[in-house]
Amino acid sequence: MTTRAGAGKQGNAIWVQCAACAGWFHVSEALLQARAAKLHCPHCHAQFQEAQAAQVARPC
Ligand SMILES: [Zn+2]
Repeated sequence: MTTRAGAGKQGNAIWVQCAACAGWFHVSEALLQARAAKLHCPHCHAQFQEAQAAQVARPC
């Protein structure tokens, strides 16, 4: 599987891949730093925590 996140994406947006539908969406770094916060997939509306994401792509 190739990761298209990270290439050409600047700033502090972090790309997360939903484990339920494999769709990518971006979240703010502040949201991820709030460890209790759940991520919300805009594609299938699943809610999960960072550790449950299929992939997390951080720009550096
Ligand atoms: Zn999803």
